[in-house]
Amino acid sequence: MLLLNPGPVTLSERVRKSLLQTDLCHREGEFFDLQDEARARLLGVYALDPAQWSAVLMTGSGTAAVESMIASLVPEQGKLLIVQNGVYGERIAQIATQYRIAHTLVTHDWKSAPDLSRVAAALDADPAITHVTVIHHETTTGRLNDLAAIDALCQARKVRLLVDAVSSFGAEAIDFSGSIDAVAATANKCLHGVPGAAFVVTRRAALANAAQRAYYLDLGRMARLQDQRNTPFTPSVHAFYALVEALREFEDEGGWRARHQRYAALAEQVRVGLADLGIAPLWAPEQSSVVLRAYRLPAGVTYEQLHDGLKTRGFVIYAGQGGLSSELFRISTMGALTAEDMDRLLQGFRELVSQ
Ligand SMILES: *Cc1c(COP(=O)(O)O)cnc(C)c1O
Repeated sequence: MLLLNPGPVTLSERVRKSLLQTDLCHREGEFFDLQDEARARLLGVYALDPAQWSAVLMTGSGTAAVESMIASLVPEQGKLLIVQNGVYGERIAQIATQYRIAHTLVTHDWKSAPDLSRVAAALDADPAITHVTVIHHETTTGRLNDLAAIDALCQARKVRLLVDAVSSFGAEAIDFSGSIDAVAATANKCLHGVPGAAFVVTRRAALANAAQRAYYLDLGRMARLQDQRNTPFTPSVHAFYALVEALREFEDEGGWRARHQRYAALAEQVRVGLADLGIAPLWAPEQSSVVLRAYRLPAGVTYEQLHDGLKTRGFVIYAGQGGLSSELFRISTMGALTAEDMDRLLQGFRELVSQ
């Protein structure tokens, strides 16, 4: 079965085999070698300086990393502006509410790009705001939000930026030289690891002001102990094995730019093939990520018919989220997928749509 849902992804044989390595105690040097390699390679993805940046690992899904980042990196007296145009922006607002973090929202329809003039006006109207958070790739719709433009607004106002890059880290450009204090991501999306390992890449300077709202997800404690070749709790050792192997493979294949090219080629192959069947994408390619594309359901076929028909042909596609489920379906091209796989997928669509 090939997974075209936005994570977990179809594994390469190399990563799958890495799960079968020897058992490790997480209090022994061999585990800390593994942890050190994962942390160093994660910084290497965007060539970040380990003196200034720290990759902090945790056991959990992508949401754990996002929650840890928000709960820890908005200081006690800080205030967060949340730019929201999809499910994942909404989730950050729920996290901020749950931790009683002072926050304000700039909300948009899920089919809209962030309105930069509204974000600027909200920042200018409230000098208490210390941090902005945005979803880089809103997986709800496949839209790639304009991180550089949000970053510029933050830089001009000396406000710090926290990014949910769960579905873009490793495949889209991220410029860490501006106001970004941290990005949260996971092993099992663009990096092609298995679910269970997540991480926050953060400036060391931001850790110095971290709040201690969370217990298990206390980013400051995790960073401190990991720097000392230690860990607060039992990590998912096997997920760390797979993450390290996936990062080695990632480097061997040419890093994030090569992954971006590979996803772009597959996503365009699918877009062009579906266009021949009259199936339109929600966005033009330049507004979309290369990671996932949302398409309008063709007339006369329900999502269930499409999903079930493709599943019998060996592919799992993904429904639209929330209110968009009757309108859209989604195809992610993350994971160990090839052009031949996409040819077979398109053949499946042809059989199902022209019936
Ligand atoms: C997948 C995803 C998450 C986290 O989802 P989990 O199920 O917790 O791994 C968060 N943000 C975005 C943008 C995502 O795509």
